[in-house]
Amino acid sequence: MRKAVRKTASFQDKGFMRISEVFHQNQPAISFEFFPPKTEAASQELFQTIQQLVPLKPTYVSVTYGAGGSTRERTHDLVVKLREETNLLIVSHLTCTGSTREEVFQILQRYDEHGIHNIMALRGDSPKQEPANRSEPGFRYALELVTFIKKHFPHMGIGVAGFPEGHPDTPNRLKEIDHLKAKVDAGADYICTQLFFDNRDFYDFCERCELAGVRIPIVAGIMPMTSRKGMQKMGELALGARFPGKLLRAFTNATDDAQAERIGINWATEQVLDLLEHNVPGVHLYTLNKSKASLQIYDALGIERFDTLAQCQNAERPPTKSRLHRS
Ligand SMILES: Cc1cc2nc3c(=O)[nH]c(=O)nc-3n(C[C@H](O)[C@H](O)[C@H](O)COP(=O)(O)OP(=O)(O)OC[C@H]3O[C@@H](n4cnc5c(N)ncnc54)[C@H](O)[C@@H]3O)c2cc1C
Repeated sequence: MRKAVRKTASFQDKGFMRISEVFHQNQPAISFEFFPPKTEAASQELFQTIQQLVPLKPTYVSVTYGAGGSTRERTHDLVVKLREETNLLIVSHLTCTGSTREEVFQILQRYDEHGIHNIMALRGDSPKQEPANRSEPGFRYALELVTFIKKHFPHMGIGVAGFPEGHPDTPNRLKEIDHLKAKVDAGADYICTQLFFDNRDFYDFCERCELAGVRIPIVAGIMPMTSRKGMQKMGELALGARFPGKLLRAFTNATDDAQAERIGINWATEQVLDLLEHNVPGVHLYTLNKSKASLQIYDALGIERFDTLAQCQNAERPPTKSRLHRS
């Protein structure tokens, strides 16, 4: 394995910040997640969304990763484009199963060269997938990826996934926290959670983490549901996610899509307000590449917006008007 060449120039870039630093600021991190678009039309739509969301001055944005050739390239291209065209702090997701160590090294090196220094280190959903070249060693769990990044790119910031309602592969919830703790001990800087609809699951998860000695920031993953179809899809993607009866009833009683959307956004807004009142270190909004829900949540929180991209280029996020300052 070659040695990673550390590019000092990118450290001086204004966009560079190790993710752990954002949690030392005196207000909660608010971040957005995007996925790489598959078509030109979807790409244009995403960049419109980004134009609308950049003035909200998110603390950082993250881009999901799909294993496999073309999807992998799309993540890379989007991350680099965001890096070049915006002032956003970017976290790039990276999954490890199905890739060789050399492949992962090359991906990380390319990010390093482009000034992307924060990685969400994940296993991915196809653990049985073998690397293309079976003679080369691969990865089994995200823990191995965290260790690998720490070894070869020690200056990079690392996020890992957490599952307030449990991960389907590990029914033993005590063991699951042990596995999470191992990722933290290996060098993760923060945890971002799977989506959840009942904040009590998140608070309970935080308490269990604390008891296990996990003392890094835990960012709450919130997905504003905007349609009944979206809910069905999430039921599949986020296996095990619990949809509270109250939310399901409201969705079932919705007379049309517009009402279902209002219900979903209101639910997410209430969740975010409650989380911030509980002084969470961060809230991560799964945007699904749309801006409406995030804009409405910001408005409901009373966070001032910049009017133009130019205004926010070199400024801090505006102060929140309401009760959101952390003491
Ligand atoms: C915030 C977030 C972002 C995500 N982004 C993406 C993305 O961009 N692309 C994508 O493809 N997927 C993404 N996922 C999905 C994720 O890849 C899957 O949920 C995956 O199944 C678990 O990933 P992990 O990193 O938590 O894996 P791991 O930490 O490796 O855990 C996976 C399972 O293995 C168990 N385990 C860990 N270590 C051991 C051990 N030593 N022995 C036995 N069992 C063990 C864990 O308890 C868990 O059940 C994301 C998930 C979240 C929550």
